[in-house]
Amino acid sequence: MQTLFEVILIVALGVALWLTWRARRENGQLREALAKSSETAEQLAAEQLRSDARLNAMIDAPPHALLVLDRDSVIIRANNRAGEILGPQLIGKTAIEATRSHEIDHVVQQTLAVQQIEERPVTWNARPYFARVVPSGDGGAVLVLEDQSDRLRSDRMRRDFVANISHELRTPLASIRLLIETLLAGAKDEPDVATRMLNQMLGEVDSITQLAQELLDLSLIESGQMPMQVTRANLGEIAAEQIIHYEPMAQQKQIVVKNDVAEDLVVEVDRKMIGRVLGNLIHNAIKFTPDRGRITIGAVPADGKIKVSVADTGAGIPQEDLPRIFERFYKVDRARGKSGTGLGLAIARHVVEAHGGRIWAESVEGKGATFYFTIPAAK
Ligand code: ADP
Repeated sequence: MQTLFEVILIVALGVALWLTWRARRENGQLREALAKSSETAEQLAAEQLRSDARLNAMIDAPPHALLVLDRDSVIIRANNRAGEILGPQLIGKTAIEATRSHEIDHVVQQTLAVQQIEERPVTWNARPYFARVVPSGDGGAVLVLEDQSDRLRSDRMRRDFVANISHELRTPLASIRLLIETLLAGAKDEPDVATRMLNQMLGEVDSITQLAQELLDLSLIESGQMPMQVTRANLGEIAAEQIIHYEPMAQQKQIVVKNDVAEDLVVEVDRKMIGRVLGNLIHNAIKFTPDRGRITIGAVPADGKIKVSVADTGAGIPQEDLPRIFERFYKVDRARGKSGTGLGLAIARHVVEAHGGRIWAESVEGKGATFYFTIPAAK
């Protein structure tokens, strides 16, 4: 009897132990599962954060203003650029409240109504924009505002350029034609007259050649296909050569060109290209200085470099044009009638920058202009 009781007790104990062990194991598994699920939740949250960051970057990346609108044209998301041009706190405002433009709102309303892409040029804040509204698939829409000023400006510059080139070509060509006609009409039989006319024609051909050369140089320099051949060179000599080259033109206008560059000043430059920069500045100075004016070329050490200057006593340049004259094809309005393509200073800037230097101009209108550029001094 007692043995039976012991057996039952042992069995009961065994069962109890087994139950405890199973409960513990299940408990462990449960904890493991819980830990795993919280790990997954953390991973999901992190992934969500990463994808939000990617989305924000995508929205902020384009240079255009971007607004996400709901079906009532209320802004629910806006990128940084939108904040910059339309002002802060855009969320919650309607498109018309944010833009204060019926023109833009009209495009938005059109898309919201018909759920189709609408796009057209608009004017906002006196600037040209291109508005594009795309349905977002949930009854709302995305409005993109693209600033067109730069594109329109470069279109206008290209048109000006073509007009300039055609003018620059037509003038010498018309002159050559007239000279040929005069020669054919009989001038060819008078040797002195014929020689003078042929020399005039040579001059006209030279100006066309220079135009072609400037166009080619600019395209080569801009595409990095004209590496600088840097050597030690005497700046005083370079300046003297250029002054001699433009002497006849200066003499015609009785302009005095003075070379103040120290004779022994040595620089490390592409001699030919820096000669062209100086030549261009001297040429411009003569062109834009009235008769009996004065041009001075100087060079002084500055911040470990050499600062070269070309100062004239001409008409000067308006302050608002000063930063722009180094752009391709840019000519100050007053200079439109003068010969020139507006390419010289753009080429000069590329050449100076290729030497690690800087070029700029200072001017007091009516009192003349001074052009400066920096180049490396010889070590
Ligand atoms: P271009 O002389 O062929 O027109 P540049 O690029 O050399 O072209 O010069 C651009 C413009 O800068 C000129 O058309 C002129 O309006 C202005 N400019 C340049 N140099 C001077 C100067 N010394 N004085 C006044 N205006 C100048």
